[in-house]
Amino acid sequence: MKIVVASGKGGTGKTFVATNLYETSRNTGHATILADCDAEVPNASHFIRAEKTSQENVTEYRPEFDAQKCTFCGKCMEYCTYNAIFCIPAQSQIRLLTHLCHGCGACAVACEEHAVKDGAAAVGVITFYKKDEQTVFIEGKMKSGEISAVPVIKQTIKRASEVPADYLIIDAPPGTSCPFIQTVARADYAVLVTEPTPFGLSDLRQAVETLRTLKKPFGVVINRAGLGNKEMYGYLKRERIELLAEIPFDKEIARIYSTGGLVVSTDKKMEQLFKTLMERIGENGNSCS
Ligand code: SF4
Ligand code: SF4
Repeated sequence: MKIVVASGKGGTGKTFVATNLYETSRNTGHATILADCDAEVPNASHFIRAEKTSQENVTEYRPEFDAQKCTFCGKCMEYCTYNAIFCIPAQSQIRLLTHLCHGCGACAVACEEHAVKDGAAAVGVITFYKKDEQTVFIEGKMKSGEISAVPVIKQTIKRASEVPADYLIIDAPPGTSCPFIQTVARADYAVLVTEPTPFGLSDLRQAVETLRTLKKPFGVVINRAGLGNKEMYGYLKRERIELLAEIPFDKEIARIYSTGGLVVSTDKKMEQLFKTLMERIGENGNSCS
C-alpha cells in the first residue's frame, strides 16, 4: 500500500507525521519504506536512523543543437512554450537556456533540418539508506536552480516501489501544484496533515478539492490540536471527511521533533496514537482495494 502524507501548505507537521508513521509501521512488524519526495528541501533524513549507502543521478532530456546542420531559422524557438531557446539568425547563434527547459522535446519535432540532437542533464539526486541490509529510506533532492521537482519525484517513487515492502510511505512536497499532484497520483491513499487555524483550513480546502478531482481516497490528521479555532471541525463534518487523528499542541512534542527525535519512540501515548492511525489507514486501504 502506498500512503502519501501531504499538506496544503508547509509547516503543518507533514514530515513529523510521515516519519512517525514509518517508525510505527516498522515497529509493528511491517516491511516499510519511507520516500522523501519533498524534493526542494527534503529533511526526513534527520529523523531516520539508517546508513547512507548509494546515490544515483536523475537525468532529463535536454536538446543539443548541431551547428553543422542548423540554418538558424528559429522554428524551434517559436515552438518552445518555455522560452528556453535563444536564437539570433543574423549572428548565426542558437543557445539553450538550460534552467528554463522542461525537456518536452517539442523543439526536436519542430526542426526540419534534424539539427536537434538528444542530450541529457542531471536535475537531481536520489540517495538510498539501508538498515540491516534492507533499503528503508529513499530521498529525492532536486539540483539547485532547477525549476521542476517532478522528474526527481517520479524517479524517487519508482525506485521506492521497486523495493519489496508492505507499506511505502511518501512524504509529499507541500502545496497543491504540479509536484503535489504528481506525488499523490502515485499513491493508494492520502493523509492530509493540517492545523486548526484559518490558514490551515484555507489550504486544506484546496488540497481536498485537488484530491477529489483526482478521485483519491483520503483522511485528515489535525496537528497541534487545541490551537486556533473550531472552524476546521465544522468543515470536516459538513464535507464528510474522515478525521483520522488529532495530535495535541504540546511543547514536549515540539522539543523532541526539534532535536531530530521520533515521539513514538519516547512517548507511550503518542506510540498508541500512531498505532491507531496506522490501523485506520490500513483499514481504509483495504476497503479501497
Ligand atoms: S529549428 Fe532546427 S534549424 Fe531551425 S533554428 Fe532550430 S535547430 Fe536550427
Ligand atoms: S525540450 Fe521543450 S522546453 Fe526544452 S528547449 Fe526544447 S521545446 Fe523548449
